[in-house]
Amino acid sequence: MGTAREVMQRKLRTYILLDMPAWLIEAASLSNRSFITDSEKELIDLVRTYREFSKADLATFTEFSRTKITGCIDSLLNKKILIANDSTEYTGGRRSKTFSLNADLGLVAGVDIGATSIDLCIADFSGKILVRYSEPASVREGPIKILGHTCSLLEKMMQENNLSPEKLYGIGIGVPGPVDFSAGMLVSPPIMPGWDRYPIIQTVQQWFPSANVVVDNDVNVMALGEIYKGVGKGVDNLVFIKIGTGIGAGIISEGKIYRGSSGCAGDIGHISVNKSGPLCHCGNRGCLEALTAGPAIAEQALIAAQAGRSPILLKMYEKNGKVLRAEDVGNAAREGDALATEVIRESGQFIGDVLASLVNFYNPKVIVIGGGVSNLGNLLLSSIRQTVLNHSTSLATRDLHIVFSETGPDAGVIGAVNLAMDYMFTITTSNSERN
Ligand SMILES: [Zn+2]
Repeated sequence: MGTAREVMQRKLRTYILLDMPAWLIEAASLSNRSFITDSEKELIDLVRTYREFSKADLATFTEFSRTKITGCIDSLLNKKILIANDSTEYTGGRRSKTFSLNADLGLVAGVDIGATSIDLCIADFSGKILVRYSEPASVREGPIKILGHTCSLLEKMMQENNLSPEKLYGIGIGVPGPVDFSAGMLVSPPIMPGWDRYPIIQTVQQWFPSANVVVDNDVNVMALGEIYKGVGKGVDNLVFIKIGTGIGAGIISEGKIYRGSSGCAGDIGHISVNKSGPLCHCGNRGCLEALTAGPAIAEQALIAAQAGRSPILLKMYEKNGKVLRAEDVGNAAREGDALATEVIRESGQFIGDVLASLVNFYNPKVIVIGGGVSNLGNLLLSSIRQTVLNHSTSLATRDLHIVFSETGPDAGVIGAVNLAMDYMFTITTSNSERN
C-alpha cells in the first residue's frame, strides 16, 4: 500500500520518460486524471481535430488494425472520454456509429496573457468555447498582480455561468516571452519585469487545485490552436507568424510544437534584416521586429507623415490625441494613401525575406500570419507572398500556402485550451507497444 502518491509513483515507474516535466508527473496524482495508452491518445487527437469519427475513418487515418481500433474505442468509452453518436451516414447498408469527445467530462480554461491584454475562455471537453472574456492589462505590472487578476476573472466567469471550479480539469496559459517548457517558467523575458522564473503553474494551481496547468510561449500556443481549429487543421508542418507588438514564430513539426533545446525556437523577431537599421530593444541593429512590428510600422509612417508625405495619416494622428497606430496605417492604405501603402508593402518585403529563408530551411506546408498587424490586410499578405515566392526554391514553394489566421483574435485562447488538452491525460504505455 503506501500513500496515494507512492502508489502513483510505483504505477508510473515502469513507463515514465526520463525527460517528462515535473508538473506532468505531478498531474498523475490529480483526482480527475484519466490514464490512457499512447494509441488511445492518437485517436483522441484525431477526434480533437475532426470532431467526429467512425471506426472506418479511424482505420483510414491510422495504421491500426480494426481490432485495435475497437479495443481503444471501448476503453475510451469506458473512461467516459469518448461518447458514441448515431450517425446519419450509412456505410455498406448499415448505420455506422461515430465517436466524439465527451463534452461533459470536464472544463478547460484557455488563458492568453499578452503584452497589453488578458484574453480568457472556458471551454467544454470537446473544445467548444462556453465563455469568452478579454480586457486590457499591462504585463509589466508583474506576475503577482496579473496572475491573481487572471485567476479571479476565471473564478468570476465560472460563477456567473454556473460552472463548477472542481470541474476545471486543465488550464493552458500562453505568455509573451521565452518559456522553459519543462519548468513552466519564463526565462529572462525582455518586456516582463518580475516574471523571470516566476512559478506560474504553482500560483495558478493554488486557485484551481483540480486543474493541470500548462504554460508555453504565446506563439507556440497560437500555432497549436491553428492545427486543431484553424486554417492549419490536420497539417503536420506549419509555421505560425505572430506580428504584433513583437514578432515571433511558432513551429509545428510532425504535428507537434517544436520548441528547440531550450524552448526559444522560432524567435525570428531578432533576425537581422538591415545591419544599419534602427536599434532594437535587444541591443542589436536592424532586427525584423525593430523594422516591421506594429510600433515600428506606426513610427515609420508617422515620421514620413510629419515630413508632409501623408495628410491623411497626419489627420489621424491629430485626431487620436497625437498617437498613430499600425491599424491607422492599414486604414489609410485602404483609402488609397500612397505612403501607407508603401510602408506596408516594405514591411511585407522584410517579413517575406525572413520567411523565404525559413521556407528554404524548414519546408513547411502552411505559413499562417496572425497577431494584431495582420489587420493591415491583403496588401501585407500579397507583399509577403510575392517576396517568399521570389526568394525561396521552387520545390519548397510548390505546395506552400501563406494565409491569414482563421482563428484571429481567438488564436491565443483556442490554442491555450488545446495546450491543456495535449496534457490532459497520463500516458501509460510507450511507443514500443504500437500495432
Ligand atoms: Zn532585436
